[in-house]
Parts: sequence; C-alpha cells; structure tokens
Amino acid sequence: MTYRVAVLAGDGIGPEVTAAAVRVLRAALPGCSFVEAPVGAAAIASHGVPLPDETLQAARASDAILFGAVGGPGFEGVPPQQRPEAALLALRKTFGLYANVRPARAFAGLEHRSPLRAEVVTGMDCVIVRELTGGLYFGAKAILRDERGEYATETLTYHDFEIERIARFAFDLARTRRSHVTSIDKANVLVSSQLWRRIVIEVARDYPDVTLAHMLVDNAAMQLLRDPRAFDVIVTENMFGDILSDEAAMIAGTIGTAPSASLGAGPNERGFGLYEPIAGTAPDIAGRGIANPSAAILSAALLARFSLGEDDAAWRIERAVADALAAGPRTADLDDHAPVDTDAFTTAVIARLPSPVATEAAPRCGV
Ligand code: NAD
Repeated sequence: MTYRVAVLAGDGIGPEVTAAAVRVLRAALPGCSFVEAPVGAAAIASHGVPLPDETLQAARASDAILFGAVGGPGFEGVPPQQRPEAALLALRKTFGLYANVRPARAFAGLEHRSPLRAEVVTGMDCVIVRELTGGLYFGAKAILRDERGEYATETLTYHDFEIERIARFAFDLARTRRSHVTSIDKANVLVSSQLWRRIVIEVARDYPDVTLAHMLVDNAAMQLLRDPRAFDVIVTENMFGDILSDEAAMIAGTIGTAPSASLGAGPNERGFGLYEPIAGTAPDIAGRGIANPSAAILSAALLARFSLGEDDAAWRIERAVADALAAGPRTADLDDHAPVDTDAFTTAVIARLPSPVATEAAPRCGV
C-alpha cells in the first residue's frame, strides 16, 4: 500500500521531533510518502498567515497530518486569529476532528520520573478521549464594558449530537481495551454537564458489555493521583480533557512521551486524522537537537493505526519506543547522567523495530 502524509512541523522543537517521527515511519512503513508544508509562526514568517492555503491543500490531498507544535514568544497581544495557535484550531474545525485521543502510559524504566511512588504508577495505562470541537474553547467570547467596568465572557455550549458521538467513540474504544469508561463532568454545577451525563447514560445502553462510571472533575483530578491504574478510557469535554491529560502525562513520568490523535471518524473506522505530541514548542530547548522524540514517534504509530489501518506497523513502532525507553540511553529530559540527542535516540528506536508480522499475529494493544 502507498500512503501520503502531510508533515506540518511548525515551530520550536516541532521540526526536530517530526523529523524523527518521519524517519521511524519510513523504516516501519516504506510505502509512506511525505509532503512538508508550513504552519504556525513559521508560516506567518513565510506567508503572513498561520495556515496558508497551500498547507490546507497539502493536508486535503493526504491520508493524515503529522503535526509538530506551533507557538512561541513574540505573539503577546496579537489577536487570537493571527496567532500561530489559530492554525491548529482551524485544522480541527476544517476536518471535523472532534475526538482527541490521548493515551497516558507508564513506560517500564521510567517509573522513577513519576512524581508518584513507583508502586502507584507502575502499570498505568489509560486513554483520555477529549471532545475537541465544542465547549468553552469554541463558544462565543468577548471582552466588554458595562457600568461596573470591563468584563470578559465566554460561552460553554454542547449539543446532544456532539456528546453522543464522543461518547460512542469512547465506548467503541473501550471495547478494544479493558471495557471500562469513566465519564468526567461537573454535573453538580453546570447544566452542560447535566446534559452530558444524561446523554452518556443513554449511549451506554447500547454497550452493555462496557462498564460506566461517572466522576466529578475535581474528584477525577484527585483519583488520577491516588490510583491512576483504576482508569481505562476517560471521556470528557474539551477543557476538562485539556487539563486532565497534562496531569495524566506527568503522572506517567514526562510530557515528552505523550502522543495524541485528533480524529473525525470512530476508532474502528480508518479515516483522516491529525497526530501530534501533546506538548508545545519547548522554546527553552528548541534548536539544540536534544528534544525527546518519543511523543512524536508514538503519534506516528497512532497515525499508522487510525488513518492507515496499519495495526502491525503501529504495534511495532510502539514496541520499539517502549524497548528503547526501557533500555536507555535516553534524552536529557529523562536522563541526568549520559543523555543522547534526538537523532541518536531515534536511531535506537529504529534499531529496535520488530520485523513485520502478519496483522493477525500482532498482539492487539489498543492505544
Ligand atoms: P511546552 O510543552 O512547550 O514545554 C513545557 C516544558 O516541557 C518545557 O520545559 C519543555 O522544554 C519541556 N518539553 C516539552 N516537550 C519536550 C520534549 N519533546 N522533550 C523534552 N522536553 C520537552 O509548553 P510551554 O512552554 O507552556 O509552551 C511553549 C509554546 O508552545 C507556547 O507558545 C504554547 O502556546 C505552545 N503550545 C503549542 C501546542 C501545540 O502546538 N499543540 C501545545 C501546547 C503549547
């Protein structure tokens, strides 16, 4: 099979880690071709806008987007639609990428990086399914003035169909894993959460084989710290998912190993998606070739699974990253003594790629 991947590397460490992910994808899936296009601050510098038309065209002509990160210093006070981050919001909206999948896994050998005790975090393996195109981030917002002074307002809107499709996504994904969904909301205070909970309960009736628990978001933040292994699939709205997935990444040890997929189809349908590390452009280390490429490489594995239907390649990449992290040497964010650079770690991952096996023979590991 031949595939086409649009590489939108962006800013800061984005080009460094996406180059690593492309190297690994080339090795694991020789049928992949890549087309690079500018995005973010780099695109503002070259084309005057964060998401040029040619970038959108390149994405439309591809099976998936491999995305780095966008943003950086120098955009304070610039209107939101002219900032580098506007590109990402526009891509999510344009391609209807409503489901953001964020696996959080404690890798063997990295237990000492977790702020929690090793016996609490060892074996942690959950996936946060975050609704990505609704809620506060997309609602109407304004800074206004009345007789009491200046004030800001934002709107949190969810339609029933938006809740239903993300809930179905989570239940379908749970069926490929340990068949447990935790729905997180703030139903004791927010009416949007009350609708959320009611629709999730309705959807659950179609999945009698999947267990469902509800948790208020403040309690969820605590329970993730107390017993992260208790979670399998977490489904939640946009802002709660944004915050909880960073917490989960840190519990697992580092943001440098946390990948994500943004999808517009169900987890079992092969479809277009955008794949990126959950971290940002890391201006403090950009340009030095020392960034951890694991999250970008694991995002490429998700790309192979969800957009290309190449489960075997996805599994081989995930296995190679896990083995390389366990064996060391690792990048500077994980190794205080004798760290290796981005290229050397990537070479170690490629060297550990298991040889191809028939998809049927590959152990299913979900995401
Ligand atoms: P960040 O995630 O870029 O960095 C936070 C810390 O984590 C830094 O110390 C950084 O060095 C470290 N880090 C991140 N990725 C790493 C990696 N792969 N290897 C080693 N260390 C890594 O967050 P920030 O500093 O708050 O944001 C920087 C910029 O990134 C901002 O402009 C922000 O808007 C943007 N941002 C973009 C995205 C995106 O494109 N999806 C997401 C988050 C933040």
